[in-house]
Amino acid sequence: MKPLNCDLCGQQVLVEKFSAVHTSIQWTNKTDNCPTIRAAGLGLGDPGRSCAALQNRIERAVLDSEILESTIELPSHADLPRLH
Ligand SMILES: [Zn+2]
Repeated sequence: MKPLNCDLCGQQVLVEKFSAVHTSIQWTNKTDNCPTIRAAGLGLGDPGRSCAALQNRIERAVLDSEILESTIELPSHADLPRLH
């Protein structure tokens, strides 16, 4: 995963890009440390809980090829453990 810092609040996240539409973002600190997210006041898991400056930073990193599509293979359905 690639560490990136938000332009606005400087919070660090780890980014892994699996495909054009699937980007995984992992915060290294509490998301509440970002003033944008804290100000929005949304609960954990809310899809609106994101920081526009951070999204821009990630998009720029992708355009600049700072982040390349991951070669990690996600498990397919057949490989997933079955629950009986
Ligand atoms: Zn931010």
